[in-house]
Amino acid sequence: MSTEQAIKILLVDDRKEDILSLEVLLANPNYKFDKATSGREALRILLREYDYALILIDVQMPLLDGFETAQLIRESEKLKHIPIIFLTANNDRPNNIFKGYQAGAVDFMIKPVVPEIIRAKVAVFAELYRKSNELLIQKQNLLVLNKELEQRSEELARSNMDLEKFAYVASHDMQEPLRTIISYIELIQKKFNGSIDKDMEKYMDYVVGAGYRMRELIMGLLEYSRADREEKPFTEVNCEEIFKAVIANLHRSIEENKAVIQCDKLPVIKASYMQMIQLFQNLMSNAIKFKKGTVPQVKISYKKIEGHHLFSIGDNGIGIEPEYRDKIFEMFKRLHPIGEYMGVGIGLAICKKIVERHKGKIWVDSIPNNGSTFYFTISDN
Ligand code: ADP
Repeated sequence: MSTEQAIKILLVDDRKEDILSLEVLLANPNYKFDKATSGREALRILLREYDYALILIDVQMPLLDGFETAQLIRESEKLKHIPIIFLTANNDRPNNIFKGYQAGAVDFMIKPVVPEIIRAKVAVFAELYRKSNELLIQKQNLLVLNKELEQRSEELARSNMDLEKFAYVASHDMQEPLRTIISYIELIQKKFNGSIDKDMEKYMDYVVGAGYRMRELIMGLLEYSRADREEKPFTEVNCEEIFKAVIANLHRSIEENKAVIQCDKLPVIKASYMQMIQLFQNLMSNAIKFKKGTVPQVKISYKKIEGHHLFSIGDNGIGIEPEYRDKIFEMFKRLHPIGEYMGVGIGLAICKKIVERHKGKIWVDSIPNNGSTFYFTISDN
């Protein structure tokens, strides 16, 4: 169906000259007229074609009159929506008008018709038809688009699952051979301690260093692919306890950096206990790690908002340039060379996954060279 197609109008009158004068009266390049000289012929046409915008039908016709024809049209599922305008001589008005509306007419005009009025009326129905056709096309397009979208997101979900399965299996299975490589190199180092030249010792150190880094990457990858695998149901989790546990886990780094940590009163929420520890720990250890040289000051704040708990972890560290504020949540995205700040660039990707599993969002606000504040929400149901 196209919106450019001519609008079809069916003219039904037993008098050919009346049909002709109607045609002349309504002449418009956007209209296409089909003609029938009896009720039967009109019905025969309507058996084949249902896409009329309007039927103009004369009431007084021999055999099947206009009303009877309209009645039969109204009984057909496919045709009953087509508007009908009855045309009649003005002598038998009151009775017929009533009869006409009973048969489902939408309008009634007395002959001789006033050209401007009939043109205006036909134009209204033609426009109505065009608009509803347009809507129908839009609806069909929308349905097709929706179907495509559904298909795409199914494909995406499937390939995501495949990828995660792959990441899980690969990282899980790579741990063992890597452990073997690291321990044998360390064994070789011990065995030849002092008896190999300095260059060789340096190379061995590089190999062990790279091995440890690879182990960190693999563990990060494994942790990442596990982040939405955890199947335990959420429980009531006291965030004060989470905070204490994280402080205990990070105590070495806190002491070494002389970090000052401040924390609001934290709520009890419905969440995964282990993942909340992971989330707070990743963000707090980053807040300490990415310091500017001065003593790291970390502030954990909390606010209840509509439908969610809103947490924030602010620091006075190096900050993040605006163009990187979304990218840092991607896997392996790091903004500094390895020697400058330790890390593999998986922590924030894991945080994002955990937060999304808790129907929340995570984002960062920052002033470069002044500090960053990471915000995240956790759904309250
Ligand atoms: P990692 O800490 O292992 O490098 P993350 O995924 O935790 O990986 O962080 C990704 C990158 O985001 C970091 O390498 C760092 O460049 C930046 N970043 C994260 N947290 C902070 C922070 N608090 N201040 C400044 N930069 C940060």
